[in-house]
Amino acid sequence: MSVKLEGNILVTGSNRGIGLELVKQLAEKTREEAHIYACCRDPEGTRAEALRKLTAQYPGKITMIKLDMLDEDSILTTVQAVSKQVGAVGLNLLINNAAINTPASPAPLSATGKKDMMEVYETNVVGPFLLAKMCLPLLQKAAERHSPEKDMGDKMSCRRSAIINISTLISSIEKCPETFPVAQMYPYRTSKAALNMLTRCQAEDFKSYNILVTAIHPGWVHTEMGGEEAPLTTQDSVHGMLGVMSSLCNKDSGMLLDWEGNSIPW
Ligand code: NDP
Repeated sequence: MSVKLEGNILVTGSNRGIGLELVKQLAEKTREEAHIYACCRDPEGTRAEALRKLTAQYPGKITMIKLDMLDEDSILTTVQAVSKQVGAVGLNLLINNAAINTPASPAPLSATGKKDMMEVYETNVVGPFLLAKMCLPLLQKAAERHSPEKDMGDKMSCRRSAIINISTLISSIEKCPETFPVAQMYPYRTSKAALNMLTRCQAEDFKSYNILVTAIHPGWVHTEMGGEEAPLTTQDSVHGMLGVMSSLCNKDSGMLLDWEGNSIPW
């Protein structure tokens, strides 16, 4: 699948793991006019070294922006900074990738308390909710400017205006009997199931503006969160997801898909 993404693209949690690879492949595979807003908690810190190096390789194409998904003021400051830079062009694609999974895997019931439930919900659901709400005017601008002829009759696309919420297979309520024995992860599963509902609500709410909203499962990926045993590399997962994002159209809004484009039941 080829990558057909363009315009202004914002990625959260982009200093490592899947987020870093998303920024890398977006920088490599999009045309010169595309611009990537690579968000992370501490752009100056040691954990952002790889992202700083990548940014230096693509001068003028990547802007690093400080963003803590747990802090409403930080989200507002980020959106204001992006708004200033994108101007009338708006934001074409928002990728809500940042997330946490605590306590550590396999996260049994006995190790899980209120703090985990609340912190994971705030990071994985409230953060993406606030960010999308504040980005809505920028997404609307991009949707209004885009000429739908480019997309062969389909009104919605990730080139025009879209939100991608990175979800997971283990958010699926239908698949719980298969996935639960492997890892309990109460906070993480319930937060991502809520993120799926957020995706569905946003898809309904924003369809009148022609903004597409889809949840994507990246596969089981070798990252700090995915662990050593994960079979998929970030390169393969992101290659697949960017191909899927490039092909999304009206019928995919409000759906949960995997990195190969297969539909996952709620
Ligand atoms: P990692 O743990 O490797 O990276 C998580 C990223 O999120 C880091 O950049 C981290 O930044 C950032 N982050 C965490 N909390 C915050 C916060 N409060 N504000 C801003 N950024 C934050 O995870 P992956 O790359 O593996 O996961 C990426 C996405 O894919 C997540 O949504 C995850 O749920 C999903 N996913 C991953 C799977 C896998 O197998 N890896 C499977 C299914 C879904 P920092 O360095 O500052 O902590």
